[in-house]
Parts: sequence; structure tokens; C-alpha cells
Amino acid sequence: MLSAKNLYHGGIMVNYRCNAACRHCLYACSPTRTAGYIDRGTMAGVCGALRRGNIGSVHIGGGEPFLDFDGLVMAVTELKKAGIQLDYVETNAFWAQDTALARSYIRTLAGLGAGALCISLDPYHAEYVPYGLPLRLAQLCEEAGLDCFLWKRQFLRPLLGLDQDSVHSRAELEEHLRPDYISAVAGDYGLRLGGRAVNIEEEYGPSWPLEKLLDKAPPCPDLLSTGHFHVDLEGYFIPPGCTGLRLPLAELVDGIPPGKYPLYETLFEGGVAALLGLAAGRGFVPGRSYPSRCNLCFHIRAFLAGEGRHSPGFAELDGNHYGESLKYYTRGETRESG
Ligand code: SF4
Ligand code: SF4
Repeated sequence: MLSAKNLYHGGIMVNYRCNAACRHCLYACSPTRTAGYIDRGTMAGVCGALRRGNIGSVHIGGGEPFLDFDGLVMAVTELKKAGIQLDYVETNAFWAQDTALARSYIRTLAGLGAGALCISLDPYHAEYVPYGLPLRLAQLCEEAGLDCFLWKRQFLRPLLGLDQDSVHSRAELEEHLRPDYISAVAGDYGLRLGGRAVNIEEEYGPSWPLEKLLDKAPPCPDLLSTGHFHVDLEGYFIPPGCTGLRLPLAELVDGIPPGKYPLYETLFEGGVAALLGLAAGRGFVPGRSYPSRCNLCFHIRAFLAGEGRHSPGFAELDGNHYGESLKYYTRGETRESG
């Protein structure tokens, strides 16, 4: 039985839509990702499931939660009503370009008891949001007495010297930071290379023959880990790291009878080798090599999600995730030609 009766540490993704399309985004968020924001009914249902899962606090993320401030206020209010503490709200700070608006948002959130803002700052975000905006937002939070932290402050120093008020291309960042900054930053973060970050692993990682990846491939118990899970705007539980897979949170907390989500069960019990067996029966032909088992898993699931558009598919696959993961990531000139 698939179940997660005790939730440990998680966040609510109020949307998938984002003004940015960062190359490391595990959830493949973007300006073209399906629009929509968690609604009050779903939020109340999620809060009920979180309570049944014995979790006392969560964070809010996206997408970019501040694309719909009224929606964000609703989500914060529903958490409060349910007695669930809000640890922080994640944002890329794009809205700090309007100082008066930013001040009023900060005041509202502080008044609602939102714990803090987690403000993104790194070279990936700098391609979409001028890195002066996170700094400005942090200053406005400080003035208003709302806690905040830059995620991650360590990336600020290397960016200094670039114009704070404009975005910067990959080529500029390669010249200013180092030619392989994309791979280096992923290492500094300790990123899981799922979602749009599959491209980073494919561009920079070594590749391994299929036989080596499948040899003694373990099952995937992390699919029921609640160490850093998310719940999306439709009330689906997303396991830590294995994005593109999801199960209804309410069902998971109450326990799911065997057979309802066969692909999820296959991976949980048999790992990527068992998934390959399932997909081969539906016409998937693997390549000769992949940079990792999880990368192979991503491509098998992408195939099955695409196939699901023509025949009965798997409800546990997020159909929008795979195409969005493969969009937007541009490769370097030398690597494209070499
Ligand atoms: S990492 Fe954050 S800011 Fe970047 S695309 Fe994803 S959700 Fe948007
Ligand atoms: S093989 Fe797939 S399910 Fe297993 S840990 Fe990797 S991404 Fe997750």
C-alpha cells in the first residue's frame, strides 16, 4: 500500500506559472506553464490532509507565488485558520521593482503573521531577475521588520561587478564567473538534477551505458519520503526530488489501495529497471547511455506521459512537466557544436 501517514517537512506550491524559467528549476516552472493558482477549496482540503498527516508547519512556494497576491493572501489565511504555521514564502523578488507596491505587500504579509520571505538569488535566477531586486526586497523587509533570507547569500559575491539592474545571459555569466558556472553552481547547491535540471546533467555529466545503470538498480523508497515534499495547486503530493510524479495528498495520507497507481508502485518497489520493463511493453526503446538512473527514469516517464495523450495513461504522471522541462534550456555555443 502506498501511504505517508506522517508528513515531516514540506511546502505548498500555489502555482506552476513563473515569470522566470530558470535552468535548474526542479518543477519546470515557466511563463508558459499552465496558468492557475490554488483555490480556496483546494487549499482547505490540503490543510485538512496536512493536519491528518501531523505536520505543524509548511512553507509556500511556486512557481512565483507573488504573481497573484490576493491568492497568496488567501493561502496564508487558510493555513492560519487551520493552525498550521507558515515558515516562509519563497519568491524571486521580481515585484520589488515597484517599491510602493512591495512595501504594501510586505506590510500585509507581516500583518498576517507570515514567518519570513525566502528570496532567491543565484546565477540561474540572474538570467531572469536583475540581482539587485532580491537585495532591494531584503532591504525593504528589514525596514518593515519582516524576516527574510537570501537563498543563497554565498552567490552574491561572485555576481558583484555585474550590473545589478539588468538580467545577464549565459554568455555574460560564463565570462564573469567561470566557463562552467552552470555545473559548478549545481554542485554548490547540491541540486537534484530533475525537472529542467536534467539538461544540466546531460550537458556536463559523463554518460553511462544502459547495462551499467540497470545493474543492481535499487527500488525507489524516496517516493514516499516526506523529508522535503511539496503539494501542488491541485492538491497532489510531489515526492522530494522525483518531480513529474505525483499522487493526491489526501489519498496518500489516508493510504492508497494496491493497484490504483501502478507506475508509482512499480518504481517504488522495483526502481528504474522495473519501470523500463513496463515502458518496453508500451513501445519505449531506450538509448545506449544516460548520465544517471534518474535521468533514464525521467526520459522513460516523458515517453509514457506523451504516449498517455493517445491511449489510457498514468494519472500519477504530471503531463505538463516533461515538455516544460525540455524547453528554455539553451546550451553553450562550444558545447552545441562540439
Ligand atoms: S526556480 Fe523559482 S524563479 Fe526559477 S523558474 Fe523555478 S519557480 Fe521560477
Ligand atoms: S529513478 Fe526515478 S523514481 Fe527513482 S529516485 Fe530516480 S527519479 Fe526518483
